[in-house]
Amino acid sequence: MTSARAPLKSLDEALTELLSFATVLEDFESVSTFDADGRVLAQDITSGLQVPPQDNSSMDGYAVRCADVAQATGPLPVSQRIAAGSAGAPLLPNTVARIFTGAPIPVGADAVVMQEDCTLENPDNPALSGLRINTLPQSGQWIRRAGEDVKMGAVVLQKGELLKPAALGLAASIGMDSLSVTRRPRVALFSTGDELVMPGAVAPEHMKPGAIYNSNRFFLRALLRRLGCEVTDFGIVPDRLDATVAALEQAAQNHDLILTSGGVSVGEEDHIKPAVQSLGALNLWQIAIKPGKPFAYGQVHGAHFIGLPGNPVSSFVTFLLLVRPFLLKLQGVVQVAPKSIAVQADFDWPKADKRREFLRVKRNASGGLDLYPNQSSGVLTSAVWGDGLVDNPPGQTIRIGDPVQFISFNEVLG
Ligand code: AMP
Ligand code: MG
Repeated sequence: MTSARAPLKSLDEALTELLSFATVLEDFESVSTFDADGRVLAQDITSGLQVPPQDNSSMDGYAVRCADVAQATGPLPVSQRIAAGSAGAPLLPNTVARIFTGAPIPVGADAVVMQEDCTLENPDNPALSGLRINTLPQSGQWIRRAGEDVKMGAVVLQKGELLKPAALGLAASIGMDSLSVTRRPRVALFSTGDELVMPGAVAPEHMKPGAIYNSNRFFLRALLRRLGCEVTDFGIVPDRLDATVAALEQAAQNHDLILTSGGVSVGEEDHIKPAVQSLGALNLWQIAIKPGKPFAYGQVHGAHFIGLPGNPVSSFVTFLLLVRPFLLKLQGVVQVAPKSIAVQADFDWPKADKRREFLRVKRNASGGLDLYPNQSSGVLTSAVWGDGLVDNPPGQTIRIGDPVQFISFNEVLG
C-alpha cells in the first residue's frame, strides 16, 4: 500500500479508507458505572425490572378514587399517609390518602389531587380531618405509570453506545453498578519539529528566533483523553530520520495507534514518510480539505500509524474529522462521522476554494453563524473563539442568509 506520490483524495474517500483499517478492539473490561462516562458499551444492556417499578405520584397531594370524589356530599376522611419509600395500604372506600411525590399509588386509587387544589377541614390534625376537593379529578391525573420509562426486558442501551452522563443514570436506574466497556485504546503521541519548544522549558523572552511553543501536543493529548484513550506522550522528536525511526519503533510496542503531528509534507525536513516506510507501510494522502491537506495512515509493527499536519488548526480539524471517527470505531461505535445541521450564515464568503473548507464559526444570539475573520491554518485563536465548523463544499461561495452545514464542537468534543 506504499505510494510514491501522494494522491489527492476527497474527505469521504479518505474517511472510508481509514475506517476500513480500524478493526474493533475485541477486548473488554468491567468498570464501575461511575467511571464509564466517555467509554463505549461492549454489550447490550437489558432491563430486569420496569422503571418506575410501580405507579407513583408526580405531585404532593392526595390519592383518591375519582368515583368517590364525584359522589361525595361532604369532606372525605384522610385514611393514611404514604411517603416516598413506603408501600401504603389499599385505599379504604370513600377516603383519600395523603401522598407525596414518588410514593406508590395505593391499590384502589385512580388519581392524585394536588394539595393546592384542596382544603383540609382541620389542618392541625390531618388524620382526623376531612378533605374538600375543589375541582373534580380526571382519572389517571398526576400518576406516573409503572414502566413508562423502561419496560421489563427492554434493551435500554446498545452495544457500541458512547456512554454519556444520562446513559450512566439510566444504567443505574435498572440496577447496573458496573458496565462492560471496550478497553481504552492505547495511543502513543509525539510531535515532530526542531522549531518546537515545550512551554516551561524556555521563558517567552528567551525564545530563540524561529522557535515556537509546542501547542499541538496539548490539544491532541486532551482530545485523545476525551475519547477514552490511554495516552503515552513521547514528547518532541527531532527532525532526523534516525530519531524518527527510533521513536516509531518504541511507540509501536504496546500501542494500538501512533499519532504524530508535523513532518507529513514532502519537504526535506519531513522524515515521517521515509521512517514509517522503512518500518512498515504508509499511505500518504493529500486530502482535498482546507485546513488540513497532508495526512498519513500507515502501520508500524502491527500498530496503526496516523500522521497529522503540523499547522495547529489543520491538526485540530483533521483530528476531529478523521482521527476521532477512527478511535470511535476502534472502540466499537457504529455512527462515527460527525453530524451537521443546517444553520443560517450571517457572513459572506465570496471566494470559493476548490477544496472542501471547514470554517471556524460561532453561533450568534439570533441563531445564525458569525465567521472568525482570520481562517489561516496557523491561527488557533479561531478554534478557541469558534464553537463549531462550517462544512463548505468545494467551489461554493456563501452569501449572508444562506443555509450552511454546521458541525458543533459540542457534538465532536462532548
Ligand atoms: P510541518 O507539517 O512539520 O511542515 O509543520 C507545519 C507548520 O506547523 C510549521 O509552521 C510548524 O512550525 C507548525 N507546527 C508543527 N508542529 C507543531 C506543534 N506541535 N505545535 C505548533 N506548531 C507546530
Ligand atoms: Mg515540521
